[in-house]
This record gives sequence, C-alpha cells and structure tokens, in this order.
Amino acid sequence: MAAMAPGIVQLHPFAWNQKLSKYVKDGQLDKAMQLFQQMQREGATPDKFTFIQAIKACACLGALQDGRLVHQQLIQSGCESDVFVGSSLVDMYAKCGSIKDAWRVFNKMPSRDVVTWSAMILGHVKCGQGQKALELFRQMQHDGVQPNSVTFVGVLNACASMIVLDEGRCVHLQIIQSGLESNVFVGNSLIDMYAKCGSLEDAWIVFNKMPSRDVVSWNAMILGHVKCGQGQKALELFRQMQQEGVQPNYVTVVGVLNACASGIALEEGRWVHHHIVQSGLEMNVFVGNSLVDMYAKCGRIEDAWKVFHKMPSRDVVTWNAMVLGHVKCGHKQKALELFQQMQQEGVRPNSVTFVGVLNACASLIALEEGRRVHQQIIQSGLESDVFVGSSLVDMYAKCGSIEDACRVFNKMPSRDVVTWTAILGGCAMHGHGREALKHFEQMCDEGVQPDDITFVCVLSACSHAGLVDEGMCLYASMIRDYMIPAKLEHYTCMVDLLGRAGHLQEAENMVMAMPCKPHAAAWMALLGACRIHGNVGMAERVAKRILEMEPENAAVYVLLSNIYAAAGNRHLCENVERQRKERGAKKQLGRTWIEVNNEVHTFVVQDQDHPQMIEIHAELQRLSGLMHNAGYVPCTELVLDDVEEEEKVSHLCHHSKKLAIAFGLINTAPGTPLRIRKNLRVCKDCHTSTKFISKIVRRAIMVRDANRFHHFEDGVCSCMDYW
Ligand code: ZN
Ligand code: ZN
Repeated sequence: MAAMAPGIVQLHPFAWNQKLSKYVKDGQLDKAMQLFQQMQREGATPDKFTFIQAIKACACLGALQDGRLVHQQLIQSGCESDVFVGSSLVDMYAKCGSIKDAWRVFNKMPSRDVVTWSAMILGHVKCGQGQKALELFRQMQHDGVQPNSVTFVGVLNACASMIVLDEGRCVHLQIIQSGLESNVFVGNSLIDMYAKCGSLEDAWIVFNKMPSRDVVSWNAMILGHVKCGQGQKALELFRQMQQEGVQPNYVTVVGVLNACASGIALEEGRWVHHHIVQSGLEMNVFVGNSLVDMYAKCGRIEDAWKVFHKMPSRDVVTWNAMVLGHVKCGHKQKALELFQQMQQEGVRPNSVTFVGVLNACASLIALEEGRRVHQQIIQSGLESDVFVGSSLVDMYAKCGSIEDACRVFNKMPSRDVVTWTAILGGCAMHGHGREALKHFEQMCDEGVQPDDITFVCVLSACSHAGLVDEGMCLYASMIRDYMIPAKLEHYTCMVDLLGRAGHLQEAENMVMAMPCKPHAAAWMALLGACRIHGNVGMAERVAKRILEMEPENAAVYVLLSNIYAAAGNRHLCENVERQRKERGAKKQLGRTWIEVNNEVHTFVVQDQDHPQMIEIHAELQRLSGLMHNAGYVPCTELVLDDVEEEEKVSHLCHHSKKLAIAFGLINTAPGTPLRIRKNLRVCKDCHTSTKFISKIVRRAIMVRDANRFHHFEDGVCSCMDYW
C-alpha cells in the first residue's frame, strides 16, 4: 500500500479482470497486456483468472517472450498447479511454436483435462507433427479423458495433413458415437479431411447431412473439388452457396479463381470477377493476385494488367503471376522487363520469380541476361535452392553454354530428379551422348530414381550421338528394371535412334509394334530417317500413313518432296508440292532469334522490315563471294525446308537464319561468338553455309534448332553432320 500514490482508488481485482477479459475477447490484445502491467504497477495482485487472460493474450499475439515472463510471475504466485492455468500455458506455448515448453508444463501438471490434451494435439498439428498428434489423441483416451469438438477438429486436421484416410474414417466413427457430428466446426473439419484425402464422396455425405452450413463448410467443399481437378463442380458449388444465401469470402473466390485458372475457363473467370466487384472483395491482395493469375493463365494479359493497375498493394505473388503469365503467353522479353520493374519498386524476387525469369532467358537464348539473373540469385542466397539450381542448369544448357550448366550442376548441394533431367537434357541437346550416359550412371549410383522424362532425355542423347547399342540397353532397362512403361516420346526416340543409324526396317517394326495408337510423331521420326538414308519406297509408305492421321501436316509434304528432289525426281517433287497446296496445308514460317547487345532480335524469311536490311544484304553478298571462293556450292534441291514460296537459289540467301547471322556479324566485335535460336530444324544448305561462314569470319556460331544445338567452329559442326 505504501507504494501507492495517495488519492488513487484501488480497483478490486474482479474489476481489473472484467476489463482484461473484455479486451481479450474483443481482440485488443496489446491493450490487454498494457492493462495487465498497469494493474501490477498499481499494486493489484493478479489472481488465477488474471493470469489466464494474460496468457491467452500472449498466445493470440504469438508473443513467446511475454508469455515466458507471465509464466515466471505465475510460478511466484503459486497458481501453477491449477489445471486451467496449466492448460492455458500449454496452449500458449503450443501456439507460439515452442512445443518443448508445452511438454515441460504438460509433464509437470498434476492433472489434465480435455482442454490440456486438445491444446497439445493442436500444437503438434500446427508444427506439422501430425503423427505425434494422433499418438496424443490415443493416449488421452487411454487416460480416460473424453474428446470434445476442439479435440476432434485437431485430430481431423492431423489426418488431413498426413493424408491418412483410414485413420480419418476411424475418427469419424468416434465423432458419430460422441454425438458431435452435427457440430458445424467438426462437420467442416470432416469435409476438409475427406477432401484433402481425396474422397469427395465421403465429403459429400458429410456435407449433405449437416444441419447447418456456414461459409467454411462451402469453402471446404469448393477447395476440395478444385484440388481434385473438378473445377466445373467447384463453380457449381459457388453458385449454389449464393443461392442458399451464404456470402462468399476471399477464401471462396481465391479457390474458384484457381479453378478457372487451371481449367483455362475465361468465361467463368469473368463471371467470378463480376461477383468479386459486387461483393467488394476486389481490394483484397489475395483476391487481386488470383485474378491476375487467372487472366494471365487464360492468356488474357491485358485483363491481367487492368487488375494489376487497380490493386492498392502488390506483393511478390502479384509480380510472379505477371512474370509467369508473360512467359507463358510468349512475351518473354516483357517478362524480363517486369522482373526489372518489380525490383525497382522494391519487391524482392523469390525462387518462383527466378525460375520464371530463367525460363524466359532459356527460351530467348538470352545468355548475358541469364548470367545477370544468376548474379542476383547468388546475392539473394537462393543459389542452393534445388528448383532455382535446376532452372539455372537448364538455362545455361539451352543458352548454349553446357560448360556453365555443368559448373552450376557440380556446385549444387543437393540434386533431385529434375536437376539430373536438366543436365541430361542439356547433354542430349548438345550431342554429348557419352557424358549423358556417365551422368545417368552417376544419378543411379546416388540413389535418385529416374522418371519417364529422364529416359526421354538420355535416349535422345543416345540418338543424337548415334549410340545405338547403349540406347537399346537403356530402353530395355527402363521397362524391365524401372517398370516405366514406354510412352509415345520413348518410342519416338527409339525410332529416331534406329532410323538415323540406318536400321530403317527395325525402326518401322518398332512403330508398327507400338501398343498405344501410333501417333504421327513416331512416324515423322521414321520419315526423317528415310530422308537421311534416301529410302524413297519406305518414305512413300510412311507419308501415306501420317497423312491419313493428319492430312494438313505440311512437314510431311516438305520432307517427301525433299526426298524426291534428293533422288533426282523433280516431277514427283513438284507433284507433292501441288498436292500440299491443294489440301491447304500451310508451312510453318521460319523464324530466327539472336541476342545482340543484351537485346533479342527476331528475323523471319525474307524479312525486309529490319532497319539495317541494306547492311545485312551487303554483308550476305560479301560472305557469298568469300564462300564461293572457299569452295561452297549451294545445294538447291533441298531448298524447300522452311520457305513458304520457294524460288530456289536466290531465296537461300534469305533464310531467316542467314539474315540473323549477318546481323550478328555486323553488330558485334570480331571474335564474339554468336548465339542463335531457330523454330524449325536447320536446313541442309544453312548448315553447310554456316560451317563455311564460321571458318571465313573466325567466329563460333551456336544454333539451337527445333531438335538440338549445333556449335559451328572453324568449318566444322559439333553434330558432325548427324542431325
Ligand atoms: Zn535454311
Ligand atoms: Zn550441326
């Protein structure tokens, strides 16, 4: 009393407690803690009830340090052995993530009730220790304590997180026996558990039996259907809930938008957007992010931008949705710009951003840009992330630097099947068959299980390097040792492998023996092999087969007419071309990309729009003279590869790849290697002339075509003319 200033009327502890519990109840937790301190300053002695309220406030705030202080005071006051106090301490420590402290209190408690046990169970679920939560649940019943609705919610969450359907069904039985099935919280958790364990039928049974449903019940059903890929059903539920007068919240619309995004259902997405605007949820950042993502995934970049501009705040998820959306829609250059912009606005990229940006660099062959991104990854400490690392390996390989890809690969602290597949794909693309086989062996030694994509990569590496016996062995081992059934991609690789090596009959037998309906891709590989080996008879047979399946496949006509042309039969060659035009099969336009001074330039066949066209043509003219002197003879018979309206020789100079090479030569310093990407396979004449050019101008020229990489240096190509 002496410590008290005169004149202050001391409140009875009951009045303090009443005020305290009101703050806690209203969620004014900071005020509650201030009051708790004030009360002690003013000399009031906290009782059991005061402590319980203070601990509750710490639990909701997640304030572990404050909680420990309250615990200290509580020990001094001698209230520790009380079961209510003990339970709230356990709850506080569990909610603050300190399971160890929770256990310490729990073990010291002289008696425990259902609240104590439930707090322990929920704490373990929260820390991702579902198994331990289930053990506690069993132990609790063994000790004769009856579970209540909170306990069941915790245990069902544990089952959901571990995807243990049988365990979940047992808990459901106990719930029915205890008469708690009609409790709305328990019902919601049951739906959630069944949906997460993949049993929508059970979720429906519970849902239909519920006497009353709230927004959480509907959300659990909607999210469950989204997760199981039943987006249409999720949208129906969304409609139905509103008819029944339940107002959707942000969780509902985020779920429904995800369904629209993954189903690329733009119409439905717009309809949901309309509802969002009406319900005033548009300003929620999660909702905004899902809207941006939905429009981007549906290919509506402009609509994504509209939402993006309207958002009051944007986080890394918003920017990622935009970056990935632009990558997906083919606006890769724009994706890289967005990446710069997000950083200017102070948003730090995360691993998802980096994976998206590396993907853009890889498809643009923007090696220098890729190197800069790599630097940023190192600075942000994400280099050891396995997803980021795998994307780096992939980016370097696809940008033509298999050396950098190997360097990153060797430095990675851990590698998964995606990492190994990236390096194997790189080896395949660069024609490094032996290295691919070595890597594959190493991968198996390190205990990483290859998947079907890994085999596609390693088989195509064998095919590009002409390793027939090795490829056959691997293919057999895939089916026999790894139990991976051969898919179309594997058959296509094998047909390619056999066909290129000249085993045409075996290749044809392989296509005929395919159990899955022979898809055109496998026949196309065989037709390509017929071209390499000049087998006109088989080519006609194969072409007929493909055209039965895909009458508008222009590539078939092109290959066949080239085969006739190479065999010297100009008449048949022209026949095929006429047929192609009659059937309206349009050739794909040849396109080439080159990165010069950090910018990617695009060229199409006979491109006349480029501002430097006069210089480019002058350079081609100059090269053509030098090539002629060096013994280059243009091969006119194969001119049909990628030109829409062919006029033979003159057009050879206009193949998009040659334009890009000339452009690269005049805009870079002598000796700079050129990196080029092409959407089609390199034609034979472009291949030959690039070999000449690499020798004449003493430059390394790297070309990534639809199939693989060609490194031209000093008159030789790394593919050894085997492509
Ligand atoms: Zn060409
Ligand atoms: Zn080559």
